[in-house]
Amino acid sequence: MPLCPMRQMLEEARKGGYGVGAYNVNNMEQIQAILAAAKETRSPVIIQASRGALEYSNLIYLKYLMLAAVEENPDIPIVLHLDHGPDLKLCKEAIALGFTSVMIDGSIDYEKKTPDGKHPARSFEDNIRVTKEVVDYAHARGVSVEGELGTLGGIEEETKTDQVLLTDPDQVEEFCKRTGVDALALAIGTSHGAYKFKHEPVLAMDLVTECRKRAPDTNFVMHGSSSVPQELVAEVNKYGGKLPGAMGVPIPSIQEAVKRGIQKINVDTDGRLVVTAAIRKVFVEKPGEFDPRKYLGPARDALAKLIASKMRDFGTAGHAGDYKPKTLAEMKAFYASRK
Ligand SMILES: [Zn+2]
Repeated sequence: MPLCPMRQMLEEARKGGYGVGAYNVNNMEQIQAILAAAKETRSPVIIQASRGALEYSNLIYLKYLMLAAVEENPDIPIVLHLDHGPDLKLCKEAIALGFTSVMIDGSIDYEKKTPDGKHPARSFEDNIRVTKEVVDYAHARGVSVEGELGTLGGIEEETKTDQVLLTDPDQVEEFCKRTGVDALALAIGTSHGAYKFKHEPVLAMDLVTECRKRAPDTNFVMHGSSSVPQELVAEVNKYGGKLPGAMGVPIPSIQEAVKRGIQKINVDTDGRLVVTAAIRKVFVEKPGEFDPRKYLGPARDALAKLIASKMRDFGTAGHAGDYKPKTLAEMKAFYASRK
């Protein structure tokens, strides 16, 4: 089975009324855990790498780790996606590596920094310009593109920004038409990182419904959708961690957002938490242990279990065999026919 274009995977999810998780990866154990979960639950899956992940792992290592996952799991539709691409240059590099989808985050300007080290928001017109540039390049190669409108708060890799601007539905329609993006990240009140909220968040659900009406053919994405399960935070803290008051998005809120029109659900923080908890546990309970396999192995198992439960919660489970992934050549022809 070839790699799957993201547009196709999200359109299938839209038809089926379920969400697909996009899980961030940096190393072999994470990739293996995600695929083990996809195999167990028979789920299509998006594995995504951020600029930070590509730098950490060295592009070429990550590419072959991801391709190993594809080779080992021929029955699972898999999308390789670049998360928060800052510019056309990195999007081009990801496409050259074989990614079937890229995100161009035109909502903030990664090249500029305010005096306090944050990136400023881009204007609507600037966002359209940089996004369209990537769409033209990617679609000519059959690759899907995700854009972002509005800005999410919090900290995720390089995406540090102060401003939280909810997506304006009036802009959604125009943005999707003018850029031709396959997917759009909406800012509906979620936030990156483990410290999203002080209280249970109230997400702008009506905004999802409204955007769905305005752009019926675009797939929508929720960033910062980790649930930060309190038992996981407690586990990290029990074994010497220090994560006071971390809180995330409850699963029922994610399910409600999927019902209203979200197809892609980005999850990074929860994976970090479960891996950290598992490793800390081994270190505390078996201080004599110094074989990395003895703590990376349990971390991998714990991550697989967590992701399998998300695949069930998001409704992705059981959908791996619903369709045959299209080739990039087929997607290229599709985009050309739309022009
Ligand atoms: Zn994000």
